Amino acid sequence: MITCLYCGNNATTIYYSGIRDRLGVSRDDWSFVRCSECGSLNLTPRPSPEQLPSFYPATYSLAKAGQKGITNKYLARLGHIFVYDRVYYRQLRWVLRTVNCRTSTIRILDVGCGVGHQLRILKTWGFDPIGVDTDEEAVRYANDALKVTAYVGDITTCADIFGSNHFDVITAFHVVEHLLDPVSFFKICRELVRPGGVVAGALPVCDGTVARTLGRYWVALTEAPRHIGIPSHRGLIQALEATGLTVQEIARESVVNVAGSVAISISPRGSTSVGSKLGLRHIFSGILMLTALPLVAFTEIFGKPSIVLFAATKSYV
Ligand SMILES: [Zn+2]
Repeated sequence: MITCLYCGNNATTIYYSGIRDRLGVSRDDWSFVRCSECGSLNLTPRPSPEQLPSFYPATYSLAKAGQKGITNKYLARLGHIFVYDRVYYRQLRWVLRTVNCRTSTIRILDVGCGVGHQLRILKTWGFDPIGVDTDEEAVRYANDALKVTAYVGDITTCADIFGSNHFDVITAFHVVEHLLDPVSFFKICRELVRPGGVVAGALPVCDGTVARTLGRYWVALTEAPRHIGIPSHRGLIQALEATGLTVQEIARESVVNVAGSVAISISPRGSTSVGSKLGLRHIFSGILMLTALPLVAFTEIFGKPSIVLFAATKSYV
């Protein structure tokens, strides 16, 4: 029995067992327990904070892939133009629309910024965002190669540096599912945004149509043990509102991203974040993604989304 990361109730039912890390970093079998209250999936056994860093491969951040050789650079560039930047544009436009942003002077913090591609795009749009990530090499790349401002650390580092009520917007794209305590994370985010400010992000949810269809093969599960809790829609809302934030909107993520997750579910080592060389498996993964795209678009738009964007506001009182 473990405590659900999203609603705090006891979770007892093993829903998936024998899950293997798709990247092979962990050699263990993992299980997910389904919360009987909110339906979220919780990894078991739950790793300790000390164990977590050892579950990440050396090249987990996207832009570290494809940096060597002309072919790799060309393929990586194509991936950015046709896939990743499309996803980032939708994420950021959606967040800015949710914030009802009309000025580029707003203070934006991107937690888990990785190598800083969202920061790069925000900068080209006239904003001056700040990023934070625990990956020192990724932060160095963000600062040196992309010329954006990023710090090494996590949300508590930001609390120490910036204090309460500092930011207008905090974003966390595909971060929360990696955390041992998402509710505490949301609490600190709430403290860091000003009244009326927004905490937003994206993450996979376990009760979407694509997620339920792929079941144990879905990449959100085979990212175990790096993925520790996959919430249901309800679990996500409960975790956000438990901190005093008010959920403004939950929307579907880019269908390109979901199609990509389907491709990686079928071809687990086909993502460009794995290893430094791009090759045939990545081209195969791209073809799979394009093939899956029409059906995924249909299910994401007309069914229940499997990767969602969320935005929650801090009240003025
Ligand atoms: Zn729960």
